[in-house]
Amino acid sequence: MENIIILGTGCAGLTAGIYTARANLNPLILEGKQPGGQLTTTSEVENFPGFPEGVDGYTLMDQLRKQATRFGAKIENSFIEKVDLNGEIKILIAGEKKFEARAVIIATGAAPRLLNIPGEKEMYGGKGVTTCATCDGAFYRNMDVVVVGGGDSACEEALFLTRFCSKVTLIHRRDKLRASKIMAERTLAHEKINVVWDSFVTEIIPDESGKTNGVRIENSNTNETTDISCKGVFIAIGHVPNTQCFCGILPMDSNGYILPESGSQVKTSLPGVYVAGDCADHIYRQAITAAGMGCQAAIEAERWLAELNS
Ligand code: NAP
Repeated sequence: MENIIILGTGCAGLTAGIYTARANLNPLILEGKQPGGQLTTTSEVENFPGFPEGVDGYTLMDQLRKQATRFGAKIENSFIEKVDLNGEIKILIAGEKKFEARAVIIATGAAPRLLNIPGEKEMYGGKGVTTCATCDGAFYRNMDVVVVGGGDSACEEALFLTRFCSKVTLIHRRDKLRASKIMAERTLAHEKINVVWDSFVTEIIPDESGKTNGVRIENSNTNETTDISCKGVFIAIGHVPNTQCFCGILPMDSNGYILPESGSQVKTSLPGVYVAGDCADHIYRQAITAAGMGCQAAIEAERWLAELNS
């Protein structure tokens, strides 16, 4: 049996790994479907303290991983589908594999939200619809693309895509960007970016080979529909927490974010079970706040294990 299992290798999980490893707890970190978490799909991280020139997301996560394993954290790829967290021994199931631990830190993060419109599923991944400009932007060199959303992610994606694409059309459902002032200003000032306001994408239009050829949009004021021709659609409309396997086990809000106990950011209603990062935070959702929660969860878990042993 493990002392502690940490679910997730994003900023929260790996920081919890560094702290619990340095506390000699020999943590097991289980990584799921996106090793390194969401930051591995971010181009430049400009706001993580300690990097005055910025750092790319992949490098930052790679460094955190090395730091965690340097102190003895074990990392294994296993996607947990079922849990029993009620007893003193916490049980986690991944396919045929069963893990047992005395404490668990849930740092499963969040996944990109999709539009759920015709054509999206059919053309997702390789046929022109994607949620990651860093991963796929270079495939659209000298092409016209569309970005959907109005937050920091959408602006970041749009700005990144200007490096490759001839024209970037940002489609936002309102008449004002949600993004931070600095990102919004950069986006609106960029000569390659054109913003279409008050509009919803209602359909992704394929060409004869089944690849993306455009989007149909509807103006929410006039109900007028227009087709915009493009070869790539980058969806950046926020995230959904990866908490499905904790449904009915831990209290959650209506969007699936795990709710910690009152008075704590990281303690859950179950003793020995902690949360950290985007799976429990719909407010800040920053790399640094996720790392902070990972640290808090690790310290709480360490105290809990010390109490069990005393
Ligand atoms: P977000 O702030 O929640 O923004 C999501 C955007 O998508 C909003 O503009 C929203 O419109 C729109 N949207 C949501 N559902 C939609 C739908 N079904 N159809 C059309 N549009 C839809 O998410 P985010 O941009 O991913 O950012 C998440 C957090 O990460 C934020 O705290 C952000 O500051 C942070 N972040 C920071 C950086 C950076 O600092 N470099 C980069 C990326 C993200 P409404 O505005 O109308 O709600």
